[in-house]
Amino acid sequence: MPTDIHPNLAEAHTPESRAEFGVDRPDAPILPGAWLGMLGGGQLGRMFTHAAQAMGYKVCVLDPDQDSPAGTVAEKHICAPYTDEAALAEMAALCPAVTTEFENVPSISLDRLEQLGAFVAPRGYCVSIAQNRIGEKKFFAACTERTGVPPAPHWVIQHDADVDQLPEELLPGILKTARMGYDGKGQARVKSREDVRAAWKAMQHVPCVLEKMLPLAYEVSVLAARAANGSTVTWPLAENVHRDGILFSTVMPSTSVSDDIADRARAAAAAIASEMGYVGVLCIEFFVLTDGTLVANEMAPRPHNSGHITMDACETSQFEQQVRAMARLPLGRTRQHSAGKMLNLLGDVWYEFGLERTPAWDEVMALPGTKLHLYGKSDARPARKMGHVNCIGDNAEEAAAAFAGAAAALHIPS
Ligand code: ATP
Ligand code: MG
Repeated sequence: MPTDIHPNLAEAHTPESRAEFGVDRPDAPILPGAWLGMLGGGQLGRMFTHAAQAMGYKVCVLDPDQDSPAGTVAEKHICAPYTDEAALAEMAALCPAVTTEFENVPSISLDRLEQLGAFVAPRGYCVSIAQNRIGEKKFFAACTERTGVPPAPHWVIQHDADVDQLPEELLPGILKTARMGYDGKGQARVKSREDVRAAWKAMQHVPCVLEKMLPLAYEVSVLAARAANGSTVTWPLAENVHRDGILFSTVMPSTSVSDDIADRARAAAAAIASEMGYVGVLCIEFFVLTDGTLVANEMAPRPHNSGHITMDACETSQFEQQVRAMARLPLGRTRQHSAGKMLNLLGDVWYEFGLERTPAWDEVMALPGTKLHLYGKSDARPARKMGHVNCIGDNAEEAAAAFAGAAAALHIPS
């Protein structure tokens, strides 16, 4: 065995192991024992890694951060930039299938892994649609005939003339940067054309989308999974509440929205996944307007914060499903066995009156129906996602009671 090859790489290269895991047969499942690759080392990668390991896979994480939540639990962590050629080659040689947990991973890295022979799910093309609001809205608009769900009325702003020509009826609105927006960042609320001009200048004239401010009744999301053979499943509708632009809580199934709206949103999400030829787990955020209209807001080409409740309330979690989809295994059932409500834990919970403290985890866990998930991040900064508590019960009232108890124990106003 040549000494310059990592032992794991050499192992992946033996003809026996490739045949054993079905690596050389494009449609065959990749069975437990094989390596799975993950681009990105955040909490979503960490929960994926736990799910993959529970099923007997080994996980290789590529992330430039030495201390990433996923890199520290995976069997192997390649610590390098996402575009590092040697790192991508190492990952492709080791892992017959690769996925991502981070939509801003360069899509060319996913394309490169595919060229190098890995089964990449989702493909770079799908991830690139979700990376840019301009392309994403165009895609949602193109799907509307099939989904019956349009994007918000909007206007693309890339030149000064676009501000001049902005239709008046889109104001008041929200100006959003086309790229790199998350948790409400890269957004400005605008009332007039002059506001748009000033906000766009403050955003340094990067490409943006101006969206009409809509009367939201509820924010919901649909988690969908699509297999390589095209079979698609969705989970029950999730109802989300944001605080300061960050997800605060998710109730599954939504208790506010009618079954008809839930069915239409689930069907729209499945149709969007199929239009993209998507393989993997996908989350689509929708707005329900005060008149009951559904609007497609944005999508994440990966498991989503609003899907964490599936870990304890559903037969198959979003992370197990991500493993199944990339390994070309049959998808698991999305049946919900318990009512659920998720409480996000931000770094703020570690502080009271400006002093750092250890949250009362014991009190949280003393409550019936609470499941604590922490992401192993050592530095609790305000607004940083540190973990979540899944609260489950036989019905929505029980889940809500567990949620209220957990929030009270952690001194989170609920
Ligand atoms: P995420 O963290 O979900 O990626 P984001 O920062 O990318 O969020 P959006 O989800 O587009 O951005 O917007 C953040 C929040 O702003 C939404 O959850 C919603 O409450 C509000 N919002 C966004 N667009 C509109 C709109 N057109 N009309 C009314 N409210 C809106
Ligand atoms: Mg959003």
